[in-house]
Amino acid sequence: MNKLDIATPTRTKELLNKYGFSFKKSLGQNFLIDANVIRNIIHSSGIDKTSGVIEIGPGMGSLTEQLAKYSKKVLAFEIDQRLLPVLDDSLSDYDNVTIINEDILKADVKHYVETHLSDCGEIFVVANLPYYITTPILMGLLEQQLNIKSYVVMMQKEVGERLTAKPSTKSYGSLSIAIQYYTDVERVMIVPKGVFMPPPNVDSLVVKLTILPTPRVTVEDEALYFKLTRGAFVQRRKTILNNYMSLIKDSKLHKEEIIAWLEASNVAPTRRGESLSLEEYAQLANSMKNFPNLVI
Ligand code: SAM
Repeated sequence: MNKLDIATPTRTKELLNKYGFSFKKSLGQNFLIDANVIRNIIHSSGIDKTSGVIEIGPGMGSLTEQLAKYSKKVLAFEIDQRLLPVLDDSLSDYDNVTIINEDILKADVKHYVETHLSDCGEIFVVANLPYYITTPILMGLLEQQLNIKSYVVMMQKEVGERLTAKPSTKSYGSLSIAIQYYTDVERVMIVPKGVFMPPPNVDSLVVKLTILPTPRVTVEDEALYFKLTRGAFVQRRKTILNNYMSLIKDSKLHKEEIIAWLEASNVAPTRRGESLSLEEYAQLANSMKNFPNLVI
């Protein structure tokens, strides 16, 4: 990388001044100004000159620029129209970047991938995410099953810790389960506040999610599985029995059956949701059909 990279305080300030740009906190605008962090993100993403890359929130193009150098094509979704002229200017040396001025939560990503990245090899997501919508972005993309190989994404450290958490830890919850259902999760690096302009209030974590060829556990009814995993954490301090008493219809009438169902799945009713593995939730979901009075 050379001194003209966008991910430097000098170049970022230059662009801010030239366009009179003011950051919108509500859009999670904290721009990366450290070339080393970007180099690590690119390196851990595994992209090469055959890859198609989806980026969410290019900002002024600091990460986009390096993605353009090291991949075949970049498809970047940016909600803030004010950044379009900035990106036009900052990325004018690259003809392999397409910017889509849409909300990533509403965009037809599949359509854009087919239109813009169909001549690429493997597809990757690489992004410094807008932190206020990390979970809906990741869950939305994962549920669409877009044929993406892996995600290297930066997020608020606490959220990254939830993604990587194992059972019986403070951070483990329904988000850990949902992400680990679809992917292998690795921590890449902790990123301090100081490498952003403006600095956010929290430290950040870069996480790599590698899509599994098939989900980690086999469930007959995915919707039921996710209802059971979410329902087990509605009140973290409560037992799994009490949480499911709130989740299952007419549970007072069927308490004995709920206990029988838990026990048939080798889950003691006194356990808490945070102690159950993905496999145990799968067991619960798959055995529920044997207890026809239990309806969610
Ligand atoms: N990639 C740039 C960087 O690292 O310097 C900027 C990252 S900044 C954390 C997040 C970016 O996401 C901002 O540019 C923001 O405008 C954009 N953004 C926020 N909400 C969005 C949404 N719903 N859809 C698409 N982009 C969004």
